[in-house]
Amino acid sequence: MIIRKIERVTENRKRTLKATIVWEQASFNPDTYYFSVDEKYGELLGNPADAFLCGAILPAFIHGEERVKIDEEVCPQLVDNLHEAIYWIAAWYPEYRREIPIQIEASLKSSADRIPGSALFYSGGVDAAFSLAHNRDSIPIDHPASVSRLILIHGFDIGGKRVEKENPASEEAFLIAKEQAMIAADEYGADLITLTTNIRHLDDRSGIWGHVYVGGAISACAHALSGCGDLFYISAEGANVPASGHFPHFGTHPVLDHCFSSYAVNIKHYLANYDSRLKRVSALKGHKVLLKSLRVCFNPPKEMPNCQKCEKCVRTRLQLELLGLINDSNTLKKCVTEQELSAVAITSDVGLAMYEEIYQMMLSINHPLVRSVKTKIENYKVYKKWKAGKTWKRRAAAFINSILK
Ligand SMILES: [Zn+2]
Repeated sequence: MIIRKIERVTENRKRTLKATIVWEQASFNPDTYYFSVDEKYGELLGNPADAFLCGAILPAFIHGEERVKIDEEVCPQLVDNLHEAIYWIAAWYPEYRREIPIQIEASLKSSADRIPGSALFYSGGVDAAFSLAHNRDSIPIDHPASVSRLILIHGFDIGGKRVEKENPASEEAFLIAKEQAMIAADEYGADLITLTTNIRHLDDRSGIWGHVYVGGAISACAHALSGCGDLFYISAEGANVPASGHFPHFGTHPVLDHCFSSYAVNIKHYLANYDSRLKRVSALKGHKVLLKSLRVCFNPPKEMPNCQKCEKCVRTRLQLELLGLINDSNTLKKCVTEQELSAVAITSDVGLAMYEEIYQMMLSINHPLVRSVKTKIENYKVYKKWKAGKTWKRRAAAFINSILK
């Protein structure tokens, strides 16, 4: 992979970092990638080479590129850290291991500055809201670690796929998300920076996005906005470490996210130790504005921040109801019905941990939906066993085939 023609441009009242990315081994067409902000925030755009390298390294690795060559100087600490990121991804997903490591070919900067200041990636969901609330409650406002900017990204969960490019529905969904985030920013005296990027188009498949790419892609936006400061918070998910001690692997993870840091931009996986989603929601009791403006949904209908019926919406409504907070939200409404609950399924280990917590609370108050939640948990465990068996059989078949060749 070659990253070249890195440039800063001003057009249509936007300031944009652009680069052309050319694949060498993978059979994808070259394309132009960008990070773009409103002109008034143009001075916050920072390290384009670090940003494009950070955003491209994992797609290059996954698609078998032998190297990533970049025309401009990059931070030596970032290069070192990215090799560690690849180490973890290869350790977690053996199917991507390779004998010859991917090379990073770049000139290295010999100096660097740090700008004191902090920003929080803010989607409007429970974890981001909890991070903002906790930051305000625990760090004096004048301290450089106090969040002074919220960053909302257009091009990840909203408008992140090539097919959604300039789709009016995703443009509208983003405007609604921006409205909700602005409510939080205004309340907490922070600037809201909206950054638009197409870096996800390097590989916009859904599953691998979450399992591999998401932390590196968010961190790429931090490098693009390094004028915000030297500390960027990525909210941890409020899921606990299972009794096995095996914390589920994911593209944003306590051991992974700091591997996307440079000298000037530190990426912090924030508040992993607050590992109960119910307690996180409960902590928002003292932050009513954040409760009112929650946006958790990936597929909201027209003019609404949440669809109310997808798994994330249903789960968050359940949590709000159990904590007696459902009437404090303007965006997630009404108690969940049996029919709504039965229409959604647990799809991940992190989701399982959250439903197990919900189940325990429902059990303690003899909630009418407790049996339905139990069934949901059991169904997911059966699915996991089936999937593990399938994976084991596939690996055994591949092994036998390799011997027979
Ligand atoms: Zn939804």
